[in-house]
Amino acid sequence: MSISRHCTKMTLIVLIVLLMLGAPPCVASNDGSMPQGDSGKNKATVTAKSPWGRDPAIGQAMREVSPQQIQQTIAKLVSFGTRHTLSVNNPNAATSAQGIVAARDWIKSEFERYSAECGGCLEVKTDTFVLQPKARIPQPAELQNVYAILRGTDPAQSKRIYLVTGHYDSRNKEALNSTDPAPGANDDGSGTAVSLECARVLSKHKFPATIIFLTVSGEEQGLDGSGHFAKMAKEQGWQLEGVLNNDIVGGNRTPGDTSQNSNVVRVFSEGLPAAASEADLRRIRSSGGENDSASRQLARYIQEVGAAYDFGQFGPLLIFRRDRYLRGGDHSAFNDQGFAAVRFTEYREDFHHQHENPRIENGIEFGDLLKFVDFDYVANVARLNAATLAALASAPAPPANVHLVTKELENDSKIQWGPASGASAYEVLWRKTTDSTFPEENTTRTTETKVDLPESKDNVVFGVRSVDAKGHRSLIVIPEPER
Ligand SMILES: [Zn+2]
Repeated sequence: MSISRHCTKMTLIVLIVLLMLGAPPCVASNDGSMPQGDSGKNKATVTAKSPWGRDPAIGQAMREVSPQQIQQTIAKLVSFGTRHTLSVNNPNAATSAQGIVAARDWIKSEFERYSAECGGCLEVKTDTFVLQPKARIPQPAELQNVYAILRGTDPAQSKRIYLVTGHYDSRNKEALNSTDPAPGANDDGSGTAVSLECARVLSKHKFPATIIFLTVSGEEQGLDGSGHFAKMAKEQGWQLEGVLNNDIVGGNRTPGDTSQNSNVVRVFSEGLPAAASEADLRRIRSSGGENDSASRQLARYIQEVGAAYDFGQFGPLLIFRRDRYLRGGDHSAFNDQGFAAVRFTEYREDFHHQHENPRIENGIEFGDLLKFVDFDYVANVARLNAATLAALASAPAPPANVHLVTKELENDSKIQWGPASGASAYEVLWRKTTDSTFPEENTTRTTETKVDLPESKDNVVFGVRSVDAKGHRSLIVIPEPER
């Protein structure tokens, strides 16, 4: 039984007693307070299915996601003709029904409408600034990020923030064209719709930690809106623990294209953190931590949520890369400020339907049009985002000051950490250095804030997470070597 290898001598004795009593051993990945599948005859066997259990409130929020609502949102965004960032300077921009000013005012009114439906539970805000001339910004332009805050209900937890974002600006073939049609249904009407839909469904629920629903401008001119917002978060010391960026999540369906996979959304995450210092990089090199950035733990968390809840055939495909070739996105602006952030993008993009002027040429229809968006697919992406945000905001704080003791040459592994607010227990996970994710069967649970495991730290990667009485899990924290 491989599991017993991860138990200390003390717990081995307890284990034998527990097995005699028919209770599960130290790999107690489910606390029993949430419904779980068949625990099986052999309780020491952990099934491949995630043992997280399901929080009924999260399941309810997922069911409230509406493809029809998402369709209406994207259709409305497309109706503004262009949402080019520089259209803010077009004649009559402030009073026109076309252009980015009308679009941002409408987004704000949507957040306010959702808030009115939950008794004012959302704080609807704007982050407005003037961008000075630079590449793709020939004259000063006012940018505005529009966002809504669902403040956490627990004073100890509400400082922790999780954020979902999409960019509402659009463009066509010319980066400076602010007048011709740029429908941006997929890029990034779809991601904007995910932020809005998450706000609509999650505002009907309460969470201990805080969730922010963000929509930004200026992405196409150089990640300008998200850059400003992320810098503000850094300067103001926000405890921003995870950012979900949705950009091109429309599940493009071109007639005749058989290569699209509507069961998959890609989740991109950086390896070496963009904000790593020289000292950080030295530590990463020496410990083999290239595959364990905070962004990568966030990606792994999304995969676990995908396994724990019912998404039918749909699920995330983790891509261990910052972004696609030749392209960038708003998650990188958050990475640059040291925040964990990932990017969701459809499985297969059709580049005829991005950054193009709508037209038909040689029988090919160009343009980012509403008719190429698969609203059921966007709804699945929104469900995965909503469930991830809800799980994170329901979870106890991740353990802090997690250290792997490396003072002596030893073949066992001593890990210790500080108590986490809201945690009733902790799980220590491990994986082979060549594995991409932590297998659930390699889990040891404890109510203490330290473990001494027989597994050699030289051979595996450890992670620690907090668990609460209802079975909510925090993000995994990788221990820092302590000499
Ligand atoms: Zn985009």
